[in-house]
Amino acid sequence: MRVLVNAGPWLQVPPPGYGGIENVVATLVPCLRERGVSVVLAAAGTSTLEVDELITAFDEDQFTELQKPYNQVMGIAHAHQARVVAELRSRDDIDLVHDHLEVVGPGVLSAFGGPPVLHTLHWDLHKHPAFYGAFPPSIAVNGVSESQLARAPEALRAASLGAVYLATPLADRDLRVEQGEHLMVMGRICGLKGQHIAARICQKLGLPLVLAGPVCGRNTAAELDVVTQNPYHPLHSHPDVRYHLDQVSRYLDGDLVRWVGAVGGPARDHLYASARAALFPIQWDEPGGTAVVEALALGVPPVGLRRGCLPEIIDHGRTGFLADTEEELAEWVLRVDELDPEECRREARRRFAPSVMAERYLELYDQVIRR
Ligand code: UDP
Repeated sequence: MRVLVNAGPWLQVPPPGYGGIENVVATLVPCLRERGVSVVLAAAGTSTLEVDELITAFDEDQFTELQKPYNQVMGIAHAHQARVVAELRSRDDIDLVHDHLEVVGPGVLSAFGGPPVLHTLHWDLHKHPAFYGAFPPSIAVNGVSESQLARAPEALRAASLGAVYLATPLADRDLRVEQGEHLMVMGRICGLKGQHIAARICQKLGLPLVLAGPVCGRNTAAELDVVTQNPYHPLHSHPDVRYHLDQVSRYLDGDLVRWVGAVGGPARDHLYASARAALFPIQWDEPGGTAVVEALALGVPPVGLRRGCLPEIIDHGRTGFLADTEEELAEWVLRVDELDPEECRREARRRFAPSVMAERYLELYDQVIRR
């Protein structure tokens, strides 16, 4: 079987730091290839993942562009997808396209009508109601959690092939490092992820907190300064930049509560694995929760608000804690040492290992090709 996996043009695969979808693609592709699938990857030209062929429309990652207004960036996704379609037009040996490009992927591929397509919905399906409410029937879809699909428009939910949970290679690695004192939030700094709540709780309780993640595609304080110090910068008023400035930075005392920017590679794994707990004070219905799954795999108990996919991933009292309010969250944070890291690791190995995800996708590929 030969599959064209479309990761989109935004970040290299695997991503050097932040990158939920790119991490999932980087986890899936080696497993597919081990099982005899030939993979053509469509991604940013900087991608280093071992594949059979790499096709690209851009030599550089386009993630920083993604934050700009729609009328300044819509050409990027379309240029990438035009490259994918040109590839599909030029050959007849692709059995299936596994697409991960939001809206533009299925929109363009349904109009093209080439090989069968499985599109993975990584997003909050309340977005794009016009598109998701009239999703092209020729495109097969899957979600990344049951709760995400439960919120999808009726027709999309009915047409979907179900949910495939996200996986992490950390589930197979059994990384063990000395535990530190800090709690962590790993993720984009933005209102949806709720870092200010974690900061408020930790400041009140006197617990060290490390926030890791980019702000609006900016990976360091210096990069962010370029945006905040220039009132004419196109991202100056971006909601994520304002969120960091207005709601998070007031807690950053450089000691108890720290923002370390985006971290990647072994440094990220070490920082995350040494945390006492991973906090998820989410302010939205998190669709897939890669960072939650990673926390389990590292034996770092996740503690979060009971929303989105969190109740599906976290078994309250066994592999983490779930709270309904900020006050309750603070209470559970004080009890994280009651949770057994081994139980978290076991759960990740059983449910979120790469092979588990890959086997599920191979079943779906078969189903899509047969229909
Ligand atoms: N991440 C990272 N470095 C950071 C912040 C995040 O490597 O500084 C990774 C994180 O470990 C996870 C991904 O980026 O693999 C974020 O995925 P998630 O699904 O949690 O968030 P979203 O895709 O909603 O931004």
